[in-house]
Amino acid sequence: MYDFNFHKPATLDAALETFESSDDGQFMAGGQTMIPVMKQRLAMPSDVIDLGAIDDLNGISAGNGLVSIGAMTPHAAVAASGTVQDAIPALAELAGRIGDPHVRNRGTIGGSIANSDPAADYPAAVLGLKAIVRTNRREVAADDFFTDLFETALDEGELIIAVDFPIADAAAYEKFENPASRFALVGVMVCRTGSDVRVAVTGAGPCAFRVTEMEQALAANFNPEALKGISIGADDLNSDIHASAEYRAHLVGVMAGRAVGRMA
Ligand SMILES: Cc1cc2nc3c(=O)[nH]c(=O)nc-3n(C[C@H](O)[C@H](O)[C@H](O)COP(=O)(O)OP(=O)(O)OC[C@H]3O[C@@H](n4cnc5c(N)ncnc54)[C@H](O)[C@@H]3O)c2cc1C
Repeated sequence: MYDFNFHKPATLDAALETFESSDDGQFMAGGQTMIPVMKQRLAMPSDVIDLGAIDDLNGISAGNGLVSIGAMTPHAAVAASGTVQDAIPALAELAGRIGDPHVRNRGTIGGSIANSDPAADYPAAVLGLKAIVRTNRREVAADDFFTDLFETALDEGELIIAVDFPIADAAAYEKFENPASRFALVGVMVCRTGSDVRVAVTGAGPCAFRVTEMEQALAANFNPEALKGISIGADDLNSDIHASAEYRAHLVGVMAGRAVGRMA
């Protein structure tokens, strides 16, 4: 590790002021990605601003048809939340299937989506459930948030405050996981609200994406059978030692069918 300044502000304003006065500051949530990245010198911030003491960023509430999850809320709290389990059970289940207990107790929803790891689970929920990402500057629609591999719409110094999830009529998440890390080789969140159907995929491409052809087919006939014959092109999908792009493309159809099967 190399030298850096460490800050643990107690308020949001103090965190933002510290960032502004730093040469090259970076916010830290649970450090689950950031600390390994710093150890490898892939990031070398002059100032690490730990968000862990800012109570306003941590917690879950429901009202006005939304479940709001503070950016610093760990995955374990989302999984165990009666509010989330009642309102959007698929979201609680997704959080409970992230990594292992250590990761779920340290990793946060804000850190997960800011990182936009192509294999992370939350991006499928944010996109599938049509969430709004609330920052210190604005509200960002899910469709605009994930822009590329490890890239989001967040600007320099922009801080996620919370994620607001509309309560869907029904939703289900299915993932084919890497058995070592439990990251998604492919994960699919299907969500139905009235006649609106959304199908969001993580793990397969550089960042989370929707499959509009599946959404239209399911809006007309909400049944796994409706997905038969819809194939996903492998050209822009990820290929690595774990799975080829063609295999991932195949898994998108399988996971989507399983999710719909649980909801139909
Ligand atoms: C062994 C292991 C297994 C894992 N398995 C899974 C898995 O199965 N599924 C899965 O989805 N994930 C998995 N993860 C990822 C994990 O769940 C964390 O979500 C992820 O590592 C981010 O960690 P963090 O929340 O501690 O954020 P940090 O590592 O602290 O931060 C990550 C990035 O987000 C930025 N950031 C943090 N908070 C904010 C904020 N509020 N506003 C703006 N930017 C912010 C930081 O500056 C940094 O760039 C795994 C991680 C590990 C180490």
